[in-house]
Amino acid sequence: MAFVVTAGPTREHLDPVRFLSNPSTGRMGFAIARAAAMRGHDVTLVAGPVALRTPRGAKRIDVTSAREMLAAVMDAISCTADRPVVFVSTAAVADWRPAKCAPRKLKKGQMSAVLKLVRNPDILKTVSRRFAQNRKPLLVGFAAETGDPVAEARRKCREKGLELVVANDVTEKGAGFGTTTNHVTIVRRDGTAERLPMMTKTAVARRIVRECEGLCP
Ligand code: C5P
Repeated sequence: MAFVVTAGPTREHLDPVRFLSNPSTGRMGFAIARAAAMRGHDVTLVAGPVALRTPRGAKRIDVTSAREMLAAVMDAISCTADRPVVFVSTAAVADWRPAKCAPRKLKKGQMSAVLKLVRNPDILKTVSRRFAQNRKPLLVGFAAETGDPVAEARRKCREKGLELVVANDVTEKGAGFGTTTNHVTIVRRDGTAERLPMMTKTAVARRIVRECEGLCP
């Protein structure tokens, strides 16, 4: 099988030295890429700016912004020929970007005048809609919430046409951004939810890869 995995944050520049972003470290996505490569799958890892080593056997494409990430993902999926494809979207994509990126560093006084924001594309939703049913990858999303992660995950499954959503409460200790462990609930397209114990991100990754293998013909 082919796995295309996004990981890390995106950066949305307002000038050459300033950007909007978030604290994602990319650990969960890199763990999934590593687990899939170790199982012998063909892995493309599309990474935002992170300080992690490329997993052995994975092809890595580095990007900065959400729009670059979308283009790299569409390319990677289109290049998978006739194999079953799984797209695992772990990246913490910035939902908004500055309407314009100034070519030179902005002066402090100019800041409020330029901070007009526009929506970024939703990469997962775009992939879900852009490929014909017979070429559509199996889609796996993540839901990092601060409220009721399972209810949100069920909504995301329907809204983005996903097979699985991996939900976690990012305010919980040992789960979410920057940790080596995660405490997740796997929510499936049929609405069933399975809460896993607190695990390392490596163990969560293995579990997700196996689950995807079970779903592919
Ligand atoms: O809607 P929300 O951002 O909570 O959805 C989370 C899921 O959607 C994650 O899998 C994330 O990688 C993906 N996503 C995306 N493009 C965006 C925002 C989120 O692919 N612009």
